[in-house]
Amino acid sequence: MPRMAIRPGPSRTAVCYHGSVMVEKVILATPRGFCAGVVRAIDIVNIALDVYPKPVYVRKEIVHNRHVVEELRRKGAVFVEELSEVPSGKTVIFSAHGVSPQVRDQAASRGLHIIDATCPLVTKVHLEAKRYAKHGYTIILIGHDGHDEVIGTMGVAPEHIRLVTSIEDVDGISVDTEKVAYITQTTLSLFDTRKIIAALRRKFPHVEGPPAQDICYATQNRQLSVHALAEVTDLILVVGSANSSNSNRLVEEAQNKGTPSHLIENVESIQPEWLEGVRRLGLSSGASAPEVLVEQVVEHFRSRGASVEDLVTTTEDVQFSLPKNLVADQKRSEVTA
Ligand code: SF4
Repeated sequence: MPRMAIRPGPSRTAVCYHGSVMVEKVILATPRGFCAGVVRAIDIVNIALDVYPKPVYVRKEIVHNRHVVEELRRKGAVFVEELSEVPSGKTVIFSAHGVSPQVRDQAASRGLHIIDATCPLVTKVHLEAKRYAKHGYTIILIGHDGHDEVIGTMGVAPEHIRLVTSIEDVDGISVDTEKVAYITQTTLSLFDTRKIIAALRRKFPHVEGPPAQDICYATQNRQLSVHALAEVTDLILVVGSANSSNSNRLVEEAQNKGTPSHLIENVESIQPEWLEGVRRLGLSSGASAPEVLVEQVVEHFRSRGASVEDLVTTTEDVQFSLPKNLVADQKRSEVTA
């Protein structure tokens, strides 16, 4: 059962921009925000900036959040779209969303020093794809076309993988073997993915797949937390960038539960008209959204008289270790400092 933890808040009545009684209470989804994969990826860039000569290059956004990327850019990281933009011999970091083997090969052939910030839970999906491909399966990847993670995963076994994004895609797919397996992007909607897997099972009764879908613990926890929030709030705001898959899914999950919801980059994105008639406001954030942006939203409403509570659905203590080559280089740099 979700727990409500009451934080001290002001006792005066909350008022809206127009002076009428409005948001009285902000209820914070817990867990929210950074997952272990994002913490690890940001740590990797920060350590690399300390250990290696600048600039340090990062292929693609390290995580899909504008604020995070801007902060790392200010510290000396250079974000590039393709490896051809990285001078030979320089350090390049692969983003948390993972890369295809072709990108790894290209980096190696250019003599780049690679630090891999791929989330271990994305690597797990790559390994599943590799294993199925090795045994001659047709692999159905459930995911969003064009997402960095999907591009990387498809590159693991391009001859074997077929992408489906919806039940309609399942209807249109045909395979010429009994060996069919599915894998999924890590940041999908639990609700939609279950429906697509059910459609796959109807069409291919022998389809194999992971014991649970590959949707990661952080995505699942944040979605379940938003479901609980949707039961007790009039509106849910989700802090996250427009290109963040898991943040967008949180908005959809809230809407699926019948509660209006909007994605906001930061406090300045809030539109006053969204708040008309809203007394209990739910607030969550995607796995790549820094807590400071949530705190600014909380402060915005607190300063207008709203009280603040946490709605705790579960706790998380997941941590991932850093890449071995980075740790070794860090130790070496400490010895020579
Ligand atoms: Fe890893 Fe999940 Fe976080 Fe993506 S959302 S970085 S898969 S823990």
